[in-house]
Amino acid sequence: MNNDNTPVLTVNGLVKRYGAIEVLKSIDLDLVKGDILGIIGPSGSGKSTLIRCLNMMETPTEGTIKLQGKKLSDKFKSSKNEIGVGELRRKVGMVFQHFNLYPHKTVLGNITMGPKVVGKKSEQEANEYAHDLLGQVGLSDKADAYPSHLSGGQKQRVAIARALAMKPDIMLFDEVTSALDPELVGEVLQVIKKLADEGMTMALVTHEMAFAAEIANRVIFLDGGVIAESGTPDQGLINPESERLKTFLSRFHG
Ligand code: ADP
Ligand code: MG
Repeated sequence: MNNDNTPVLTVNGLVKRYGAIEVLKSIDLDLVKGDILGIIGPSGSGKSTLIRCLNMMETPTEGTIKLQGKKLSDKFKSSKNEIGVGELRRKVGMVFQHFNLYPHKTVLGNITMGPKVVGKKSEQEANEYAHDLLGQVGLSDKADAYPSHLSGGQKQRVAIARALAMKPDIMLFDEVTSALDPELVGEVLQVIKKLADEGMTMALVTHEMAFAAEIANRVIFLDGGVIAESGTPDQGLINPESERLKTFLSRFHG
């Protein structure tokens, strides 16, 4: 699904340490517009840390990350050469394993908060777009519901709509279906698939191997903080080269 070669995200020599523990060891990565990167790997391999660094929720110890050619900084404000965290949050949408919806706000309130507070949109404009997004995630009838009255799959679809409300240039997903009951996984994957089909650039940490193979145009296998393998889904997933990846994948085949 590569639309063109416009770089969206460029990672060079990314290292993340917590004290003496090196969690990411010199990661290099390039995402162009329309890329759908699947990130797989065993628990503790650094997948979440990588995703969190891409959004500056964790500050890299070494290396650079660029969004659309501009270096990310950990300051709030952007400068001529650097993107600050404020701008970054508007350009990068993120959805986590746990929904993190505001329990005291309605579905509509959750979705419109960012656009109103950060995006300075009018109430009417924010509401209209939120209704539009709710239609896209199949929840038009839930605008006035509170999160506690929704199923896990519905909450996660609201979380996706909330991230989309800022009109991000890239979406990051970190195991967004792994806390869901199995029967609710499909409805969330379907929403992500639709986004992918529409050309959204995304990086997606997932244990849903068949799904990763279906939608991703590139897959990386993280192991011990390094990219142990990368390729297209058929190179990387169906014909793994390393024993580690073979062993890892064998757990997902009946
Ligand atoms: P994954 O998402 O692949 O399961 P993580 O990125 O969550 O892996 O974690 C990678 C490693 O980094 C783990 O060993 C974890 O314990 C460690 N780690 C993550 N966050 C912190 C932190 N804030 N402080 C210390 N160690 C951490
Ligand atoms: Mg994780």
